[in-house]
Amino acid sequence: MTRAGDALAVDVAIIGSGFAGSLTALVLRRLGRRVVLLERGRHPRFAIGESTTPLTNLLIEELADRYDLPEIRSFSKWGTWQRAHADVACGLKRGFTFVFHRDGKPFADDPSRSQQLMVAASPNDDVADTHWYRPDFDLTLVEAARGAGVLYLDNAHIADATPTAAGMTIDGARDSRAFQVRAGFVIDASGPRGFLVNRLGKGGVAPRWLPPTQGLYTHFEHVGLWSGVHPADGAPYPPDDAALHHVFPGGWIWVLRFNNGITSAGAALTDALAADIGAADGAPAWARLLDRLPSVREQFRESRATRPFIHAPRIAFRCSDVVGRNWALLPSAAGVIDPLLSTGFPLTLLGIGRLVDVLATTAPGPDRQAALDQYARATQTELDVTEQLVAALYACMDDPEMFRHLSLLYFAAASYSETVRRLNRPHMAPGFLLNAHPVFGIELRACAASAAARPTGAARTALIDRIDRAIEPFDTAGLLDRTRRGWYPVLASDLVGSAGKLDATPEDVRHLLARCGLG
Ligand SMILES: Cc1cc2nc3c(=O)[nH]c(=O)nc-3n(C[C@H](O)[C@H](O)[C@H](O)COP(=O)(O)OP(=O)(O)OC[C@H]3O[C@@H](n4cnc5c(N)ncnc54)[C@H](O)[C@@H]3O)c2cc1C
Repeated sequence: MTRAGDALAVDVAIIGSGFAGSLTALVLRRLGRRVVLLERGRHPRFAIGESTTPLTNLLIEELADRYDLPEIRSFSKWGTWQRAHADVACGLKRGFTFVFHRDGKPFADDPSRSQQLMVAASPNDDVADTHWYRPDFDLTLVEAARGAGVLYLDNAHIADATPTAAGMTIDGARDSRAFQVRAGFVIDASGPRGFLVNRLGKGGVAPRWLPPTQGLYTHFEHVGLWSGVHPADGAPYPPDDAALHHVFPGGWIWVLRFNNGITSAGAALTDALAADIGAADGAPAWARLLDRLPSVREQFRESRATRPFIHAPRIAFRCSDVVGRNWALLPSAAGVIDPLLSTGFPLTLLGIGRLVDVLATTAPGPDRQAALDQYARATQTELDVTEQLVAALYACMDDPEMFRHLSLLYFAAASYSETVRRLNRPHMAPGFLLNAHPVFGIELRACAASAAARPTGAARTALIDRIDRAIEPFDTAGLLDRTRRGWYPVLASDLVGSAGKLDATPEDVRHLLARCGLG
């Protein structure tokens, strides 16, 4: 890094030090690049987006192994996290719990458990996923980046970014003192509606499939257990050690428990419901929402918000320009779909891997531009398919049966992708949610489009059959086994029995299970 007064010259400038900016900085530093990380705020700070998935954690492992980052790898599982970083708060996530509510009615289920869905993501706590307590987690990553030699400037207010022949010049001020960065390449990791989208791109565009939604969220203490309101004896994992989703017509509530007494909870609501409860009012709106959901209100009876509510007038964000000459947006700056299904982290991690590859393997010029354009296409395609699926789920929030079938498309694609990647056959799972698979990708889009049209009668039955047929060749988790009545544990026998679908032998799968602590 060269420095003259408050002017510096670097290979890469990264705007924003959320987990994604810091991780990208760390990886580029490992590749020997001179990197500056520019943050307008100061850590530790609140950030939303907390729940991980098996694919998120596998991608963390892959990046950590590829770029020799063992301290980052230990964050990929609950057990290793607790042993290596007990001081960094997080939550235990054994799976995805969905509970379906009707407006004004206490939660009620039937013997077939038709009003709930529990999909385990891990067979035990040690290898389980986590919820990141972002104030701690993001601070730890930024410190790791600094430790590796990344120059970190917080409280940095960027005034302008000007393309030059050799890259870009960034001008700003820090504690009232002007600075200038001359960078060969700029990565925008400043989140949705971030810096470069507006400065060099064309700004945001309306989502194509999703209905407009609003967010209302905060952190709480003293949130009760859902299993205390509705016991789930014999469930595949404790229902609260999960991303708990309370789904109801017009929206849903997430509940994520951390191990420091804090619980993250909030709602994603269609405009109509948000207007009904006056979402912009914050805490009183939350109380009005819970008044419509008596069993959720019971879970939150003793709760207290530990910080003011945030009302986000729009959750989803898309933009048309993902890259330009000597700059690129990370996927998390290029688009946010919805917290449903926890897709933000894996999309971002896939993008970090691709973008770092581009910078590592190409020099500035036409080849790099072509590779950046390819990165932009992959980013947009993956955001598109996620948006289509989540839009279909929004359309079915008053139809638990259809919602459950649709979400199993996600779980089939996610578990299949994870397994073939772990078997070193990543080509068998092309694109996020298998979107580039010649059969599954097309069926996923078609089923989502049909569900969004709200078919009834025979057309609805035919759609459910079609979803099941799409899932079958990729189902390695017993998702089509009706005897499980909506509760899906992780069973070694399911995976071993699906070896043929994975182009593997039962012995290969048994080795995999032993190697990954899944057996
Ligand atoms: C309500 C909600 C819930 C979500 N839940 C989940 C979930 O459970 N799981 C999941 O996988 N994804 C989730 N997501 C998506 C997830 O939040 C994002 O993928 C993730 O936070 C992206 O991380 P990041 O580091 O790119 O950005 P951020 O965490 O947004 O960090 C951006 C950083 O850039 C800084 N910054 C912004 N502008 C500037 C500027 N001009 N100059 C300098 N610095 C700047 C900010 O201060 C901040 O520190 C959720 C999204 C929303 C909206």
